[in-house]
Amino acid sequence: MPCLMKQRCRPGWLAPLALTATLALTGCAVSPTGERTLLLNSPTQMNALGSQSFEQMKQKIPIENDTRINRYVQCVSDAVVMQVPREYGYAPQDWELVVFKDDSVNAFALPGGKIGVYTGMLKVANNQHQLASVVGHEVAHVLAQHSNARMSQQQLTQLGIVATSVALADRVDSRTQQAAIMALGLGAQYGILLPYSRKHESEADMLGQEIMAKAGFDPREAVTLWQKMAQTGGATPPELLSTHPAPSTRIQQLDAQVQQYMPLYQQALAAGRKPNCDRLRPR
Ligand SMILES: [Zn+2]
Repeated sequence: MPCLMKQRCRPGWLAPLALTATLALTGCAVSPTGERTLLLNSPTQMNALGSQSFEQMKQKIPIENDTRINRYVQCVSDAVVMQVPREYGYAPQDWELVVFKDDSVNAFALPGGKIGVYTGMLKVANNQHQLASVVGHEVAHVLAQHSNARMSQQQLTQLGIVATSVALADRVDSRTQQAAIMALGLGAQYGILLPYSRKHESEADMLGQEIMAKAGFDPREAVTLWQKMAQTGGATPPELLSTHPAPSTRIQQLDAQVQQYMPLYQQALAAGRKPNCDRLRPR
C-alpha cells in the first residue's frame, strides 16, 4: 500500500484480535527522514494522553514561579515553535511550556504540544542557542510522532501476550496504559526507563537542528550542547540521557549537519529573525 506524507490509516485502540486482522491494512506514515513507520494510534488519542500526563506532572513536580526564568525560556520556546512547519498540524499558539523547578538536567515534549524544561537544564544549556537546540530536539520528537511509534511497537508486543488470554478486554486496558506511560518517555519519573531508539534520536536531531536554525539560533551550538551533555557524566549523569541516548555518533552527525543548516541560520538572520532571549537570561 503506498504511503504518502500525510496519509495515515490507524485503527485506534483496537481489540487485539481485530488488530491481527487489521495489521495488514494499518499504520503507514512516513517519518521526517522518509522511513515508513507503523502508527496504530490517532493523533487525538496521543494528544489526549500527552495532555493528561502533562497535567499529572504539573501536580507532582514543583513549577518555577520566577518571572525572569519563565520569560527567558518562553522567549526561546516561542521562537522555536514559530518555525514548526504547518504541515505537522501545530500552530504556534498550540504549544504550552512549563518550567519545572528541579535540578535534574532534563526536558521533554509531549503529543498535544506540551513542553517541559527543568531548571537544571539551564545550567548545562547556558545560552539561548543551546536551550533552543534542546527545545527543538524535543519538539521534533513530537512532530515525528515518536511516542506513537514506540507505543505501537509496545502494542504489537502486547498482542502476543494478550492473544492467549481469555480476559481480553481487561488486560488490554491496563497493559496499554502502562505501555502508554513508557512510550511517552516519562519513564524516569515513574521508575521505568525506555530510551528513544537511535533512529528516533537521529531524526529528532536532524529536524530539531533545522528548526532551530530557521528560528535564528546557531546550529553549531547544538553540537556544543550535546558534547557538554556527554561530558556531564560522573556519579549523576544528566537525566535527559536516560531517555535520549547520546553516543559519539550522534554528536558527529550533528556536527556534519551544521554545514547543511548554516545557510538556513544565515537566511533567518537576514530576514530579521534574531531572537534576543539571552538578555532575559538570569545570570
Ligand atoms: Zn531525543
